[in-house]
Amino acid sequence: MNAAVENFLLPGGGADITALPKVSLHDHLDGGLRPQTIVELADEIGYEVPERDPVKLTSWFADHADSGSLVDYLKTFDVTIAVMQTTEGLTRVAREFVHDLADDGVIYGEIRWAPEQHLQRGLDLDQVVSAVQEGLEEGVDSVRASGRSIRVGQLLSSMRQTDRSKDIAELAIRHRDRGVLGFDSAGPEAGFPASNSREAYDLLARSFLPATVHAGEADGLDSIRSALFDGRALRLGHGVRLAEDISIAREDDENTYVSLGDLSQWVKDREIALELSPSSNLQTGAIEQWGDEMVDHPFDLLYQLGFRVTVNTDNRLMSATTLSRELFLLSEAFGYDLTDLEVFQINAASAAFLPIEEREDLSETISAGFESA
Ligand SMILES: [Zn+2]
Repeated sequence: MNAAVENFLLPGGGADITALPKVSLHDHLDGGLRPQTIVELADEIGYEVPERDPVKLTSWFADHADSGSLVDYLKTFDVTIAVMQTTEGLTRVAREFVHDLADDGVIYGEIRWAPEQHLQRGLDLDQVVSAVQEGLEEGVDSVRASGRSIRVGQLLSSMRQTDRSKDIAELAIRHRDRGVLGFDSAGPEAGFPASNSREAYDLLARSFLPATVHAGEADGLDSIRSALFDGRALRLGHGVRLAEDISIAREDDENTYVSLGDLSQWVKDREIALELSPSSNLQTGAIEQWGDEMVDHPFDLLYQLGFRVTVNTDNRLMSATTLSRELFLLSEAFGYDLTDLEVFQINAASAAFLPIEEREDLSETISAGFESA
């Protein structure tokens, strides 16, 4: 059990958000380690961590992630990635990740990470993917043994600043029947549009392997456009800056009338899921043009306008959060009730990289769980 997983009750209504069945689509493996595990794995490989006390280490991550810049935020990953360079380290982290999701009430999770960042101690791309898959399966088995149920799969991220996207696309295709569900593009967004990885995206499309692309987080509409049309992204990693394409046309006492640009209209009409991560979006400055508090997040605007919004954690360690906490914070800011929270989960289930029958089953399980809440 991870001490960081605590229960969150819906403000006002009192329902236990943690107990509700949830779907996590945007959750980085290297952003969700247990601090105690980091210290122990670091000892095994002789790596010096910034703090040896797990409580202090937890604060170190939160403080360094809270700087307001995506570049500084990404620096905290040097530490987590350093201890995920061996088969044992990768397997353990993946196993514990599944446990922590299950403890948070997640019944379906897509876990993303960048294999190319885990080759520092001699493992190759196929070995690291297999090591993570082993941990995920061990985690699923032991969650089942404890009488609960969870299903997980991998999304392989290619780092935008390197030139390995084609290798990672090929890797994802090789492992598609062994736990890999799709492809992602991560890392610094500005200056690295999806069009740089056109060869990889063409290959993925020809192989019918779905892709989500981080876009509209650290860069604006052009990056989203490239993700959709060069990357053929079926979902947008955050995509929060799509709100730049929505303008207030007129306001009266009761209503706000907005006007959507072609891009946001397309995303809405095609039901392209936005993998919004409220706390992370605040920390990285992704929503700074709208403000610096949860109530300023365009999440509610996008939701009210009918976009397929999903709620995610992005990096649970860096943001000191859980999916239940993100739902709690949104409910607190925007007054959401159980019906709203259910919509977010159904949205996520509908956008999962699974065959349609399995997505429908997932939605039914979610509805049944909310029904009995
Ligand atoms: Zn992310």
